[in-house]
Amino acid sequence: MEKIKMTTPLVEMDGDEMTRILWKMIKDELLLPYIDLNTEYYDLGLAYRNETDDQVTIDAAEATKKYGVAVKCATITPNQARMKEYSLKKMYKSPNGTIRAILDGTVFRAPIVVKGIEPCVRNWKKPITLARHAYGDIYKNTEFYVDKPGKVELVYTSEDGEEKRALVQEFKTPGVAMGMHNMEASIESFARSCFNYALDTRQDVWFGAKDTISKTYDAKFKEVFQKIYEDEFKEKFEEQGLVYFYSLIDDIVARVMKAEGGFIWACKNYDGDVMSDMVSSAFGSLAMMTSVLVSPQGYYEYEAAHGTVQRHYYRHMEGKETSTNSVATIFAWTGALRKRGEMDGNQELMEFADKLEKATLTTIEDGKMTKDLALITSLKHPKVLSSREFILAVRDSLNRLMK
Ligand code: NAP
Ligand code: MG
Repeated sequence: MEKIKMTTPLVEMDGDEMTRILWKMIKDELLLPYIDLNTEYYDLGLAYRNETDDQVTIDAAEATKKYGVAVKCATITPNQARMKEYSLKKMYKSPNGTIRAILDGTVFRAPIVVKGIEPCVRNWKKPITLARHAYGDIYKNTEFYVDKPGKVELVYTSEDGEEKRALVQEFKTPGVAMGMHNMEASIESFARSCFNYALDTRQDVWFGAKDTISKTYDAKFKEVFQKIYEDEFKEKFEEQGLVYFYSLIDDIVARVMKAEGGFIWACKNYDGDVMSDMVSSAFGSLAMMTSVLVSPQGYYEYEAAHGTVQRHYYRHMEGKETSTNSVATIFAWTGALRKRGEMDGNQELMEFADKLEKATLTTIEDGKMTKDLALITSLKHPKVLSSREFILAVRDSLNRLMK
């Protein structure tokens, strides 16, 4: 069989621990036998990030701007323990944070739906894609404890000396106070990313905030979304029969629970943090969740939603068998390959991505899966496979589809 050619490279960001082991297996068994893989390789493994003072992360993000598509393996975000373990020169920032800051985007997370792993919410028939705004609000706040009577004010001083002042609270007894912000440009790019992704995946967009209570802050989110929708997207949405729908966040939550899925749920930063954990666990598992960062300029970075699965890695290093789920990492690759194919008009590459996804799902539906899924499946008598056995089983299914 002749291998599939790629005209443009995609950016490959290797990572750490168990996911680095899976990364290599996926390439060796599921990609290289079928594709003349054309990637620009960046090693984001912690050792090499340390060697390059984290320059490699910045280079990888810049390369993503050049080529438009990247695929990333999970990486360690260093803490004190990791400083020791890897003798780090300093406590580097989270690579995802660095990449997000350079590409400025929105993270979309969607469950991988497969027969045998049923969502806890009975009426959810299609995936719900969560779009989380990744800038500002309480994640970039200032707060303090007020220990005695006094007043807390919000003060703004413009560069030319103009002042705005608002009373937060006259404290008679101790309490807490907080200031937070967001940027209009960031909200705009969040809105554009959501609408572009909706057109790309042909799904409606639901957005909820609390503008009845927060009449300036949340109202700004609502207003920005509405304006960008009307000015730039309404026509295209109507052509495709898609809907943009705004409501109060509590109303949206109630509707989500009763819906059948198949839409994009745009969430402010905090709502997205909380709701993505609810949605992913209700759909089954973090290892069955795709994640893609979409920049407002249309750059795409695909990854798995989970981390480096450290505990499994230590078992692996002791020479013990592991049963780590590689589905989300496989889907990171298929997402990137399909997007590469789409951008280059490479039909064969897009079809390959479809087949590899189908092969992965068929394998699970045939009852062959890793331990995490075997514990929650509704299929009778699942066969629990090791990390490698699962990937080899996917290869068998893929070979049948490639004939
Ligand atoms: P984690 O790697 O997601 O794993 C937490 C637990 O979830 C695992 O111990 C395992 O449970 C289960 N799990 C996660 N993915 C699985 C998979 N593919 N197959 C089977 N089970 C899976 O989170 P963590 O242990 O908190 O973090 C480890 C490292 O990952 C940290 O250094 C963190 O900085 C990094 N991290 C990176 C990213 C990223 O790059 N996007 C995201 C999050 C965390 P059992 O042990 O019970 O089997
Ligand atoms: Mg969270």
